[in-house]
Amino acid sequence: MPFDHILGQKPAIETLTRALASGHVHHAYRFEGAEGVGKELTAMAFAQALLCSADEPLGCGTCDVCRRVVEHAQTAPHTPLHPDVVLVSRGLYPPETLGGRKETANISIEQIRRVVLSRANYPPHEGRAQVFILRGAEQLSIGAANALLKTLEEPRPATYFVLLTARPDKLLDTIRSRSLPIRFGPLPDEVLTRILGDHEVAADQVASIVELAGGSAAAALDASDPELGGPRERFVTQLLGAVDAPNLGAAIALSESLGRDRFELVDDLRAVAGAYACEARQAVSDAPAAAEMAARRHRIVLDAIEAVERNGSAGLAVASLVASLRHGWLQRPGKPPPIVIARR
Ligand SMILES: [Zn+2]
Repeated sequence: MPFDHILGQKPAIETLTRALASGHVHHAYRFEGAEGVGKELTAMAFAQALLCSADEPLGCGTCDVCRRVVEHAQTAPHTPLHPDVVLVSRGLYPPETLGGRKETANISIEQIRRVVLSRANYPPHEGRAQVFILRGAEQLSIGAANALLKTLEEPRPATYFVLLTARPDKLLDTIRSRSLPIRFGPLPDEVLTRILGDHEVAADQVASIVELAGGSAAAALDASDPELGGPRERFVTQLLGAVDAPNLGAAIALSESLGRDRFELVDDLRAVAGAYACEARQAVSDAPAAAEMAARRHRIVLDAIEAVERNGSAGLAVASLVASLRHGWLQRPGKPPPIVIARR
């Protein structure tokens, strides 16, 4: 069955399979957990179970319906081939689908109206259920969330929602209260090792990648991909170098070189946070002071990620992050570092 392919998330899978087997499936689930731990894979397996044509309560994974749930269109938007599985995701649909509006910062009310409500108010196209999967549900704009509320609370029969989020604290209370949480934990090292092995990552790289991945298969695979891992690794090295540099020159140069969008920067900063978390873990028994510093820097990076997500300028955020990391370390150990804006 499709759920067998999901590794390292036993409690979450048990909750869902119990509900499916008993026929008591809730109409709106909220999968909470870091990026890349299997939330979307599980949502797809859940959709297969609800739609499977083989009379298999947990889905057979092989019938035509199950196949079309997980196969995505070759061309953009890369949505599932099965018309009753609907993906909602910031920036997934072209402006012409959204009334000419381009989505950048959040999931717009247009996407909810045109992609979700236009279908959720009618029976499924061909299957026995319809499933709406919202990636990054915390990115719903306030208008989009409000437009969704009524349907989320009381959908038509056989209509299900799965909200995926790595930041449940950012969800509006009204959305949280209308969905049932299921926790997804970080993946154990042995699961990451197995996933990297399945992707034929060189054995001598596996241990160091696993260490930095922080329990995320996506982070591990990104790090093992020369196309993605290269630039990200370079960014992490440059940022850590800028923290230790004699002056702020390197930080300013790095911040000025950032042409990327801020969501990409957030992923890069998560890798920096992972590096400090790893440093803290390694130093904890032999060098408690260094471990404490690394833990404090980890916290500073997480704060910066939040600032960037709140719409900060990427360049400014990086410059002030480096200044905070340096300041916290060099001058005011033990105290929360102030936000220092780097000047030219
Ligand atoms: Zn099937």
